[in-house]
Amino acid sequence: MPLEEVPDAVFAQRMLGDGLAIDPTSGILHAPCAGELISVAPTGHAVTLRTDIGAELLMHVGIDTVALKGEGFEAQVEAGRRVEAGAPLIRVDLDIVARRAPSLVTPVLVTNGERFEIVRRLLGRSVAQGELLMELRAIDGVTRAITAPDATTAAVRLRVPLPHGIHARPAALIARRLRDFDARVAITAHGRRASAASAVSLMSLGVRHGDEIGLEAAGADAQAALAAVAALLEGTTAGPSHAQAVAGAAQDTVAAASRPAAGDALPGIVASRGVAIGTAAFIARTERSVAEKGAGASHESTELARARDTVRERLRVLAAGEQGPRGEIATAHLEFLDDPDLVAAAAESIARGESAGHAWRSAVRASIAALRDLGDTLLAERADDLLDLESQVLAALVGETGSAAIELPERAIVLADELLPSQLIALDAVRIAGIGTARGGATSHVAILAAAMDKPMLVGLGAAILAIEPGTRLWLDAERGSLQVEPPRAQIAAAERELAERAAREAADRASARMPAVTADGVQIAVLANIGSGAEASEAVSRGAEGCGLLRTEFLFLDRRTAPDVATQAREYQKVVDAFAGRPVVIRTLDAGADKPIAYLPQAREDNPALGVRGIRVSLRNPELLATQLEAVLRIRPLASCRVMLPMVNEPGEVERVRGLMNAAAARLGVDAPPALGVMVETPAAALSAAQICEVADFVSIGTNDLTQYTLAMDRTHPELATELDGLHPAVLQLVAATTLAARSRGRHVAVCGGLASDPLAVPVLLGLGVLELSVVPGLIPRIKAQIRTLTHAGCRALAEQALALGSAPQVRALLRDAERQAHPQTSAVLP
Ligand code: PEP
Ligand code: MG
Repeated sequence: MPLEEVPDAVFAQRMLGDGLAIDPTSGILHAPCAGELISVAPTGHAVTLRTDIGAELLMHVGIDTVALKGEGFEAQVEAGRRVEAGAPLIRVDLDIVARRAPSLVTPVLVTNGERFEIVRRLLGRSVAQGELLMELRAIDGVTRAITAPDATTAAVRLRVPLPHGIHARPAALIARRLRDFDARVAITAHGRRASAASAVSLMSLGVRHGDEIGLEAAGADAQAALAAVAALLEGTTAGPSHAQAVAGAAQDTVAAASRPAAGDALPGIVASRGVAIGTAAFIARTERSVAEKGAGASHESTELARARDTVRERLRVLAAGEQGPRGEIATAHLEFLDDPDLVAAAAESIARGESAGHAWRSAVRASIAALRDLGDTLLAERADDLLDLESQVLAALVGETGSAAIELPERAIVLADELLPSQLIALDAVRIAGIGTARGGATSHVAILAAAMDKPMLVGLGAAILAIEPGTRLWLDAERGSLQVEPPRAQIAAAERELAERAAREAADRASARMPAVTADGVQIAVLANIGSGAEASEAVSRGAEGCGLLRTEFLFLDRRTAPDVATQAREYQKVVDAFAGRPVVIRTLDAGADKPIAYLPQAREDNPALGVRGIRVSLRNPELLATQLEAVLRIRPLASCRVMLPMVNEPGEVERVRGLMNAAAARLGVDAPPALGVMVETPAAALSAAQICEVADFVSIGTNDLTQYTLAMDRTHPELATELDGLHPAVLQLVAATTLAARSRGRHVAVCGGLASDPLAVPVLLGLGVLELSVVPGLIPRIKAQIRTLTHAGCRALAEQALALGSAPQVRALLRDAERQAHPQTSAVLP
């Protein structure tokens, strides 16, 4: 049918391009010709194919089908792949889509029509699959005028308020609107960049609702063009939003409008605790330019192989020579470097005539897009590692030996949009006082590295930090989560004093870290460590850990692509148990799903993964996986050091099923005394059923991270809610109290292994609620042990009583700060 008959103005008015539409009678969309898939919508309802003559064909199944969020669609292909004519691209459930969408009509459009002429199209009759649909011809000699670079530029960042992100319609509207301006506008998102004049490029960015994007414009009317785009983004949504503010800001030069003023405190998410005063220094991520066309497939393949060899060699040295996260990250990078899909995708592009660099970059970017499409924070953060690897290989291709060292000032507060692990490693650690990034997540590899280097780090500070002048004095408070610009002189002096006192206190705490933590009135509290790797185990012991209260086993195998077998798991657990030398080690069974996706355990996409198949639910649905893990634990010697702990339990039946499996495995292996089996209290259900759970569990440990998320109904990975997601909310404390009361009545021991145990402000209240064991971040063990020695258990109980009666987490924090100040009046208000 002709486009005019499509019941949607965007298509009917050819805003996305010329072509025709199909009213489908079969549920498979086939490739109309051979070509490369340049985009596949994450929801599977649309694909764009670049044909061999360079025409870009968008095929959009149905109208408004983005709103189905993938229901009824199954993409059969991935972006970046080449397909032959007739290849199935999308499988469509016609019943579902016909019922839920306004129309099944499927436009097929040439989106770069300025370079192609449609010489023939079949309209108004039924067409069998494989018949000619339309014929295109490249228009020779047409080149797009490229405007000379202009000094006028503008840029903004904003969160996309559109409910379905930048899909076909907004992309078309933006591209069309920009025809009225001379300025060239680019949109950056997810580490990729697209011209806003191309609707297809915009769609292929995969921008979703709430994603942060950058708009950059260059040209005489740059600011007006930016404002127009921002207004379009705003105009399609209800209610006022951030975009409105940004559209206003775009009238001025953005740098000036968004540069934080002296005294401003920017909120951020704590990725590595600590505080620092220093001067702003920027690390920019430069995008290397690479030629698209290669000098012959055999030359380019040899070049790529040589560059990968160079990088592999360097990573091997790092992996073998570095203990802890540096070595582990190098190992993860090694795995990515030789990832068969990545290498095959690059080889295919080289065979098609691309240069080694271009082919490697496209392969890496396609993998990043796939990772990000999974919608999981942790996996998406691995995209940073891929980007890192991309730049390492591109550097090796041009003969550079690694990241050039960047001169940092003394006590630098390193600021960046995003920071790659290799960029951080390349910096002179002695000069780094702290780190702040505009984007990034608290669990990214670079955040783990910062913690291992003992550098305070804030992430998610927003684009405003990029407008800070280099050399500006900054106060980075990665205890409370704020970055203050040019703090007043008096505050700097007080902070400097505090930093010195803090350093002295830390040295003293470390000196007594191996002594037990006994309150002033004689109650001994066990302080153990939370760890996720063998290397952290010895570090924890040296910091006074009395055991491991939580071994996050999913972290041991995070970067694997296949499930670890019994022997591999047993070897890793044994290393940890050996490092703890007879002290207890609590091994948590795989906590897969939600914020901890496991690459080797693909799970169906879920609308609410935190409320989905995760933790014990995954293990009970995959009993062979659980049996393998239990068998690996049963091989550890001495087995008496080990305890097994189950995540996300809701009821006693789940514990009984695991005990059955463990007893069966023990019988098979001839083990007489299987280890103690405990439960993490992470859901309100578990807390409120603690008495029943304690009938079948040998111990309980409260996971306050998840318990807080489920009690407050706030996603723990939600960047905007990070400051409100506070385990000191009285409702969470009520659940802690209910758990300790029930457990005590059944003679069970209660530990806390969630983040609240590592929050010095929360420690007195936890003790007051009856918690006798804390499992904390290894670096904080000396400080928390020293703190416990200054408390009285009776005082903690009184404080807990008061906290339970309050109405909000900030009120509880205020109460605890007051109590802390009264106990230690000499402590300045600058530091927590
Ligand atoms: C918790 O939820 O508090 C916990 C310790 O487990 P994790 O953070 O690994 O989910
Ligand atoms: Mg948890």
